Amino acid sequence: KLVVLGSLNMDLVCTVKNMPKPGETLLGRDFSKIPGGKGANQVCAMARLGGQVSMIGAVGKDEFGTILKDSLKKDGANVDKVIEIDGVSTGVAMITVDDSGENSIVVVPGANYGIDEDIIENSMDIIKESSVAVTQLEVPLNVVEEFLVEAKKCNKYTILNPAPANVLSENIIKNIDLLTPNETELETITGIKIDSLEDVDKAAQHLLDMGVKEIIVTLGSKGCVYISKDTKKYYDAFKVDVVDTTAAGDSFTAAIAVGKIKGLSIDEAVEFATKVGALTVTKKGAQSSLPTMEEVNNFRR
Ligand code: ADP
Repeated sequence: KLVVLGSLNMDLVCTVKNMPKPGETLLGRDFSKIPGGKGANQVCAMARLGGQVSMIGAVGKDEFGTILKDSLKKDGANVDKVIEIDGVSTGVAMITVDDSGENSIVVVPGANYGIDEDIIENSMDIIKESSVAVTQLEVPLNVVEEFLVEAKKCNKYTILNPAPANVLSENIIKNIDLLTPNETELETITGIKIDSLEDVDKAAQHLLDMGVKEIIVTLGSKGCVYISKDTKKYYDAFKVDVVDTTAAGDSFTAAIAVGKIKGLSIDEAVEFATKVGALTVTKKGAQSSLPTMEEVNNFRR
C-alpha cells in the first residue's frame, strides 16, 4: 500500500491568443476545469497504475473540494484522510496559456496551507499500514517534515518529490530514502549551480552525504539520472510528440513509488516511470493526462 501527503488544486485553464497586459480585458478561446495539485496528481497516477493508495490532505467546504475528492475516489484512491476545512477555499491554480504555448499561473493554496502536524497524528493508522510514503512541497514544510519523520520511525520507504523548489531542513533531508528533484529543484536544495551532468553528480553526492539514500534527478526530454552511494546510471527518455508537460514530474515519481511496491529493480522501475512520464506529456492537463496501466503496457518506443 502507498500513502501520499500533499496538495489538491482545481486547475482553471483558459487559452488566449496573447497574454493580457495589466489592466487589459481580453476574450479567451476556451476554458476547462481540470483536477490538479501535485499531491492529488501523484495519488491519481498511482491509482491508475494499479497502486492501492490513500491520500492525506485538505480541501475547503466547497464545490471544488467535493469534485476533487470524488474524482480521486473514482480512480480508486482512498480519500478518508482528506479533511474539509471551514472558512477557506479549496486550492486553485488559475492558468492562462497563449498561442505560443507560454503560460502564466496564479496558485492560491487555500486549504492546502490550512493543515498542521495534527493531520499526521490523525493519519498514523494509514501510515502504519503502508509500505511506501510519498510527499511533495505544496503543503506546509513543517507538515512535510512531520510526515517524513513519522513514516521513517515506522520503517517506511520515504520518497520526497521536492516540488515546487524550496530549501529543505536537515531533519527533512535525513528522513528521505529517495529524492526526485528536477534540475531547478536540485539547484535550490543544494545551492549548487546545475549546468552539466557533473554538477548534478556533485549536488547529489552532497545530499547523499547528508543522509539521502537514493536520488533520481529528472531532466525532462533528456531523461533522468539515478545516483546512490555505489551506483550512478543515466537513462534516456522516450521520444514522443509533446502536447503539454504538466504533471510529467508528478507521474514519474508516482510510477517509481508503484514500482517500489511491485518489487521492481531500479532499472525496471525507471523504465516504467520513463514510459509513464512520456505518456503524460502526450496529453493536455494534469490528471486528464495521467495514463492507466493498460496504456503503459501498450506503449512502444
Ligand atoms: P518536472 O515536471 O518535475 O520538471 P521532468 O520535466 O524532468 O519533471 O519530467 C519527468 C520525467 O518525465 C522525465 O525524466 C522524462 O522521463 C519524462 N518526460 C518529461 N518531459 C518529456 C518529454 N518532453 N519527452 C519524453 N519524456 C519526458
